Amino acid sequence: MRVAIIGTGYVGLTTGVALAYLGHDVSAVDKDKRKLALLNSGGSPIHEPGLEALMTTAAPHLRYTDDTTGAVADAEVIIIAVGTPPKENGEADTGYVEAAAKEVADGLVAGRTYTVVVKSTVPVGTNRRVAHVVNRRLKERDVDATVHFASNPEFLREGAALADTFYPDRIVIGADHPDAINALHRLYRPLLEQTFTPPAFLPRPERLELPRLITTDTTSAEVAKYAATAFLALKVSFINEMAGLCEKVGANVIEVARGVGADSRIGPRFLNAGVGWGGSCFPKDTAALLRTAGDYGYEMPIVAAARVVNEKRRQAIVDKLQDSLKVIRGRTVAVLGLAFKPNTDDVRDSPSLDIIRCLLERGASIRAHDPVALCNAERALDGLDVALCTDPYQAAEGAEAILIATGWDDYRGLDLPRLAEAMKDAVMVDGVNLYDPATAQAAGLRYTGVGRG
Ligand code: NAD
Repeated sequence: MRVAIIGTGYVGLTTGVALAYLGHDVSAVDKDKRKLALLNSGGSPIHEPGLEALMTTAAPHLRYTDDTTGAVADAEVIIIAVGTPPKENGEADTGYVEAAAKEVADGLVAGRTYTVVVKSTVPVGTNRRVAHVVNRRLKERDVDATVHFASNPEFLREGAALADTFYPDRIVIGADHPDAINALHRLYRPLLEQTFTPPAFLPRPERLELPRLITTDTTSAEVAKYAATAFLALKVSFINEMAGLCEKVGANVIEVARGVGADSRIGPRFLNAGVGWGGSCFPKDTAALLRTAGDYGYEMPIVAAARVVNEKRRQAIVDKLQDSLKVIRGRTVAVLGLAFKPNTDDVRDSPSLDIIRCLLERGASIRAHDPVALCNAERALDGLDVALCTDPYQAAEGAEAILIATGWDDYRGLDLPRLAEAMKDAVMVDGVNLYDPATAQAAGLRYTGVGRG
């Protein structure tokens, strides 16, 4: 099928490249000239494992452009995947989605049939609003095109975006017209039936169950995305709350999570205690959900509590450093990990950066390392005095404490005696429980993990 995808961020680029790999002809549109220049030279503007290699494989079916009008004119399916950043009041800003919808409508051609799909995470009613914007513009232009609309929320995880795209648990389509569902069914058939040859670096998992196709009304699809995010957020907050209790009573949260996660009703995933959640989805989407509920005079105390617990995590990590160092002012802390989670360069609402800001306010000096997020972190820290280091040992040089803030695999096999040797005072706060306390202590580190009594 001919596809136009508007927005080449984490979602749009991954989706566009995957659809091109599956054999669809994809025009990927973005307004950001720097991104386009990089994409057209074969580079990926985001760090996502396997993405750049797949861009090369899919290149014959993929083009990048800033010309929305040209891209949508002969497309059958048009996917809007632009950002919906949070406003001050927590509401999701749908301005980019509406602007994209209007630009799409400017390019539609009389006599053709299109399916316009909103993949961005949007509050209830936005799909209706997109339909209104497109239809109004078509009327203004006096263009008689047939346009169907669908909500197709995205559930991929950064860092595992391609795996989630090729092997999803489910595909949710909210639409009022069967033709919209049929168009998306055709688009996703290779995924739904798993008939494609997997990319060499991403083999099909053994015993993979075919993805479920969930078709519903648009409002339910919109809510399903927020509900899924909120549920995962509260699962993480729940285990983090348990971690606090484990520290009080002398239990080990890793053992507790094993005991809990083995229950098939609960499952083991998202039960890793740590620095708490961040990124571009959980904080923004839980805030937007509460805002929507507020608009209806409805309270959601469970989601609100998940956010409160999460905000306290960052402070709890600073407190752990303070407990070990006693005085933070004048100390040097090495922070390993700046991305909000491993395998991504995304630092939006990263717990690590918040912790750094707090430590700086308290008078610490910071030396920081991340395998891929140094540039994004430098921009996000906006002139704050942080020494960015090219490897963990350089970061540890002369530090009095090390904080592991992101669970990168690169940090799992560190030479702990070498780290301890490089430091002035060998305190380690392992915010993501990568190390066995006894091993770290044997290496000469004064080790504290999370929720390990
Ligand atoms: P992003 O900020 O990484 O990318 C958005 C892109 O859209 C940018 O490159 C921007 O230049 C481009 N853009 C904005 N307006 C445009 C326009 N009118 N025409 C062309 N391009 C335009 O965003 P993202 O992280 O990919 O998220 C996109 C949406 O998907 C959001 O609603 C987000 O909540 C949702 N989502 C994100 C994730 C994730 O893990 N990042 C997961 C699921 C859902």
